[in-house]
Amino acid sequence: MTISVVVPLYNEEENVRELHSRLKPVLDSIDEAYEIIFIDDGSTDKTLSLLQEIQAQDDTVTVLSLRRNFGQTAAFAAGFDYSRGDVIVTMDGDLQNDPNDIPKLLELMKDHDLVSGWRKRRKDPFLSRRLPSIIANSLISKVTGVNLHDYGCSLKAYRRDVIKNLKLYGEMHRFIPAVASWYGVRIAEVETTHHPRLRGKSKYGISRTMKVVLDLITVKFLQSFSTKPLQFFGPIGLMSGLFGFLISLYLTLEKIFSGTDIGGRPLLLLGALLIIVGIQFIGMGLLGEMMVRVYHETQKKPIYVIKKVIGPGIK
Ligand code: UDP
Ligand code: MG
Repeated sequence: MTISVVVPLYNEEENVRELHSRLKPVLDSIDEAYEIIFIDDGSTDKTLSLLQEIQAQDDTVTVLSLRRNFGQTAAFAAGFDYSRGDVIVTMDGDLQNDPNDIPKLLELMKDHDLVSGWRKRRKDPFLSRRLPSIIANSLISKVTGVNLHDYGCSLKAYRRDVIKNLKLYGEMHRFIPAVASWYGVRIAEVETTHHPRLRGKSKYGISRTMKVVLDLITVKFLQSFSTKPLQFFGPIGLMSGLFGFLISLYLTLEKIFSGTDIGGRPLLLLGALLIIVGIQFIGMGLLGEMMVRVYHETQKKPIYVIKKVIGPGIK
């Protein structure tokens, strides 16, 4: 089992050296080959030059320097793409995660495919960070059906094949467990130590909560409907169309049999509207079906995932 530790850094000049010197003894104590991948996410301070100095002295370190600040998720994705280990461990670069927890995660990786840290005693401000996070975590757990206390904890370990098929967008890295569960992975959660941020500034505030909620909608939508959009839009369209048809039928019969003028009836408007909305929804579903096929075919995205193939094949 080889290990890649992936750490994104954005303006963490006060933390990089200590991060490296705390990581090193932990990784050396594990009896496995390892590499450390630091991603400089377009820092404007001395982070990159410090990382280069560290790299010059330690050849287990790879430094990826991104052209500009792409955000934590993109930085993780870059790290994943360049990593070579069987197991990939991610963590924050601001010393809020504790490298000493890594052996605990790796131990659990022996019979799991993904291990997620849980900052049970999280050392962040309550109102702006912990409270939104509690709400977000229960919401994400409910919606995705994957129950974790702490989606946002960066300290996680993944088996390579879990993230191999994943494409990350937006603030998506926190949803990897939910997305990965679709592939049938075995997930464990483990309590980890969390420290307050002693140096440097947090890059996030309450505004991230909204982005997370929007990403959750995307994840849920892609998870449940990405292979069958017509099944999602279709029923709404059919119901709407049916009601519209019945209303219009009623008005037509009334016009024919009692000769009343139906031109100014609000009901006429509703009936017509429902029919149009119904057609729109069904059309949307069909368009979705076409897009899904293009999506799956161009990306060679499988609609199933094989864990292992057993058997001799052609002799
Ligand atoms: N980070 C990054 N790019 C960004 C923002 C943050 O690589 O655009 C890194 C940051 O340097 C740190 C980690 O992501 O290593 C977590 O960021 P932060 O500590 O600011 O988040 P918080 O702990 O406050 O949620
Ligand atoms: Mg932090």
